[in-house]
Amino acid sequence: MNKQKALIIIKPDGVQRGLIGKITTRFEQVGLKIIGLKFEWATEEKIIAHYPETDTWFKKVGERTLTNYAKKGLDAKKVFGTDDAIKIGKTVKKWLINYLQESPVFIMAVEGYECIEIVRKLSGNTIPVLANPGTIRGDFSHDSIDLANEQNRPLRNIIHASDTVEDGEKEVSLWFEKDELFDYERADEKIMFPS
Ligand code: GDP
Repeated sequence: MNKQKALIIIKPDGVQRGLIGKITTRFEQVGLKIIGLKFEWATEEKIIAHYPETDTWFKKVGERTLTNYAKKGLDAKKVFGTDDAIKIGKTVKKWLINYLQESPVFIMAVEGYECIEIVRKLSGNTIPVLANPGTIRGDFSHDSIDLANEQNRPLRNIIHASDTVEDGEKEVSLWFEKDELFDYERADEKIMFPS
């Protein structure tokens, strides 16, 4: 019964709109254990290291735009000068560096059984207009992919939440030193994980 770790970042739009408390509550009340918390100005180096510098990641991001544009009959070449998913993904990564440095970010490491599934469920779709009501992105943001692209900026979608078990481990150790992480037992864990 392995517990998983996930990194949550309340991005500058969430911080500037005063949503830190409301968002943190959602992760706490579902039963995930907060094992680390801090507020910091993200450096360019850390943001570059945080989002994978791989064609797989660039392609995933670029294809999000291409799929959305295909549905709406829009031409990616008009904004990006290309319809190559990898090149579009690289452009979005550059935009993310500015976005994540607009203000300090609030960072949280959480832990729990099936933690990754839960943090992604609570976060909602990456594209706010597609995020369901009840999710953090669905309740607190309404950005659209073509609007964001036209304005040469990333989707303003309030939070980052680790997407895979491997990313969760990697991201928590990128943003937190070992002595900033806390090992303790929450009351409800005694029932879920009897020793
Ligand atoms: P996440 O795990 O849901 O945050 O999604 P990704 O890791 O794929 O993307 C990282 C971030 O880049 C997203 O949270 C958005 O802020 C932004 N983003 C992703 N895809 C696009 C896109 O196609 N266009 C724009 N403008 N921003 C995007």
